[in-house]
Amino acid sequence: MNTDILIVGSGCSGLYCALHLPKEKKITIITKTGLQDSDSFLAQGGICVLKDETDYDAFFEDTMKAGHYENDKESVSIMIRSSQNVIADLVSYGVEFSRNEDGSFIYTKEGAHSDNRILFHRDITGKEITSKLLKEVQKRENITIYEYTTLLDIIEADGACVGAVIATKDAGVKTISCAYTVLACGGIGGLYRHSTNFKHLTGDAVAIAICHGVALKNMNYIQIHPTTLYSKKPEDRSFLISESVRGEGAKLYNKDMERFTNELLPRDVLSDVIKKQMEADGSDFVWEDLRTIPQNELASHFPNIVQHCREQSYDVTQECIPVVPAQHYFMGGIQVNHNSKTSMDRLYAIGETACNGVHGKNRLASNSLLESLVFAKRAAMDMKNNPQNATPLPTIDLTVYQNRKELEEKYRKLVLDEIDKTNQEKGE
Ligand SMILES: Cc1cc2nc3c(=O)[nH]c(=O)nc-3n(C[C@H](O)[C@H](O)[C@H](O)COP(=O)(O)OP(=O)(O)OC[C@H]3O[C@@H](n4cnc5c(N)ncnc54)[C@H](O)[C@@H]3O)c2cc1C
Repeated sequence: MNTDILIVGSGCSGLYCALHLPKEKKITIITKTGLQDSDSFLAQGGICVLKDETDYDAFFEDTMKAGHYENDKESVSIMIRSSQNVIADLVSYGVEFSRNEDGSFIYTKEGAHSDNRILFHRDITGKEITSKLLKEVQKRENITIYEYTTLLDIIEADGACVGAVIATKDAGVKTISCAYTVLACGGIGGLYRHSTNFKHLTGDAVAIAICHGVALKNMNYIQIHPTTLYSKKPEDRSFLISESVRGEGAKLYNKDMERFTNELLPRDVLSDVIKKQMEADGSDFVWEDLRTIPQNELASHFPNIVQHCREQSYDVTQECIPVVPAQHYFMGGIQVNHNSKTSMDRLYAIGETACNGVHGKNRLASNSLLESLVFAKRAAMDMKNNPQNATPLPTIDLTVYQNRKELEEKYRKLVLDEIDKTNQEKGE
């Protein structure tokens, strides 16, 4: 197979990148499972935007403070400054955000935000954005998407990425040559027992980067979300109770139904407080009370959460729900510059797989969809401004990729070991 640009992953970052590449280029997107199986479809709360100039300093400060001031300031500035442009693109693709009667946007708030600056579509913002991006991609004749097709490795020649080894839907192993490769493989939640992420998101791109000596950054910065619905059943995926529920007034209680914290603390701080409370209570969860939110607001803003809780036998209008912290987001990843370029020539990384330092040590709520889109577009622009042709592939021994189970195990171990190693190096 050959293509001009190979994009690995069909979440919001991969799709948005594809939409900004030249229409005369042949673009191939591969994705490990089905088209809707990306974390981008799961995003509930919303997407941040710079409402107007008066909010710039506060937005910047909130992002930095949540990130423990370890953020890359230039990345933060680029993200905030590009936000209105990205939202205008999304609206042009037909994405609908909640609006007031006069047509102006409604902004909501989440933990650690000093102001309301989050656009949302009920509690399914990610689905609204990603499905519209997908629709747009499917209209483009130069873009082909292959589902159930997995990146197994990249192919390196003279220090540049010149192609990839992929497993196709029928379990065949093939090579693909390309001028550029973009890793948009999402997070690493699939490596954890309790995570809000899809199980197949296991940090494959990060493992491949390790094998090829591609630089990584902040590998031990992993965000635990304070509130996911507690379940005794070994669920596939932890169901998120969005932070915007707390932004709209939901409260947290200990086993005696007493409030024990400020619900709008940054995620990492609140997760620690909840864990300590669970230890003190000798309990596997704490309680979250959504009855503090007016019923019409619950129905219009959070129908998906209300419905999911109902399916799990909780009526949130009548009773509290048990919640517990779970792995949620990966702030670290493959190190990239401000144009999403990795340390390897012709190789880009975008979205949750990449680390441009925007989130520092801890991500501010609703900054990740925005960051994914802003830096996906910058990757596309960088490739557009530096056109390259695909080069012939070196000879590759494909037999080493035949045992998928063994390869998956090897990749899992590489990523987890790297996280441990970074923790030890940083003494955390
Ligand atoms: C429950 C939940 C709620 C969230 N809510 C919000 C929110 O309200 N606001 C916000 O800003 N962020 C939110 N986030 C985070 C945000 O959704 C993600 O960070 C963002 O969508 C990541 O986009 P992405 O394109 O990087 O990856 P993803 O959307 O996860 O896509 C990754 C893609 O890579 C593919 N892939 C992975 N490995 C391979 C491989 N080896 N070969 C081929 N394909 C591969 C996958 O199949 C998938 O298509 C939430 C996340 C979760 C889980």
